Amino acid sequence: MYKIIDGKVISASVKERVKCEVEKLKQNGISVGLAVIIVGEDPASKVYVANKKKACEALGIISEEYALPENTTMQELLALIDTLNKKPTVNGILCQLPLPKHLDEQMVINAISPEKDVDAFHPANVGKIMQGDFDFVPCTPAGIMEMLDYEGIDIAGKTCVVIGRSNIVGKPMGMLLLHKNGTVTICHSKTQNLKEVCASADILVAAVGRPNFVTADMVKENAVVIDVGINRVDGKLVGDVNFDAVKDKCSAITPVPGGVGPMTIAMLMQNTVTAAKKQNKVI
Ligand code: NAD
Repeated sequence: MYKIIDGKVISASVKERVKCEVEKLKQNGISVGLAVIIVGEDPASKVYVANKKKACEALGIISEEYALPENTTMQELLALIDTLNKKPTVNGILCQLPLPKHLDEQMVINAISPEKDVDAFHPANVGKIMQGDFDFVPCTPAGIMEMLDYEGIDIAGKTCVVIGRSNIVGKPMGMLLLHKNGTVTICHSKTQNLKEVCASADILVAAVGRPNFVTADMVKENAVVIDVGINRVDGKLVGDVNFDAVKDKCSAITPVPGGVGPMTIAMLMQNTVTAAKKQNKVI
């Protein structure tokens, strides 16, 4: 019998922890602030930003939203980031991606002060993750580690396979599993015998962006399967894992929706509090 790893329950426990930390900081005269920049009119980005704002409000984090027009220049965006880097009441800065095509995403990421980079995309933070000595972890992989920990799933010595090698999910996911002593393989679109590699995994993480990509023959008996995918099929949210076909082979599996998704915002809140603590030398 498989267990559903419930992202709603686990993210609620993370948020409760963050809320307590925010309150404790407030009692010591320290406020926690997150600045979110959004450029243009992308509807999905607008929803994500609204959800982040709502989460901040619920946890006592002060959120500032900077909604810039589609035709914002690189110079204007960098000037705003520079102002926010210097603003003491802003502990975390997040620039919602993707940006309009005329803007250089990497240049924007590089401009955010590493101390305020709560997405952990800045090269300094990426390097720290490689070294295993980090303050911030990209929110989605961080959320998955939190889920595994909450469920008491031991990683040490396990065969871990991550499908997808993006900078946001796949690569940092692989590093975090490695730091917990997993034996890690990262697969991608050029991987040969993908099925066999996946079917060897005790812990399988799918971050591909293709609906129902992972089928039963790719899953080992009693594997833990983590589905990162968010795909829209006929207006319905569908993961990268064919849940119904795979679930009976798993010891535990995340659903979509209600799995990894809710964890991402919770970990952003966690990173923002960590930033505030570091900047105020509380940790
Ligand atoms: P991406 O497009 O940047 O990366 C996809 C990866 O999948 C690539 O590395 C590619 O090599 C690999 N891939 C593509 N086709 C493949 C194939 N046939 N075989 C093996 N590998 C293949 O995507 P991403 O940003 O990493 O996101 C992946 C998915 O996770 C998307 O559905 C995205 O919406 C979702 N996502 C969810 C959350 C969340 O909070 N739940 C957060 C980020 C991303």
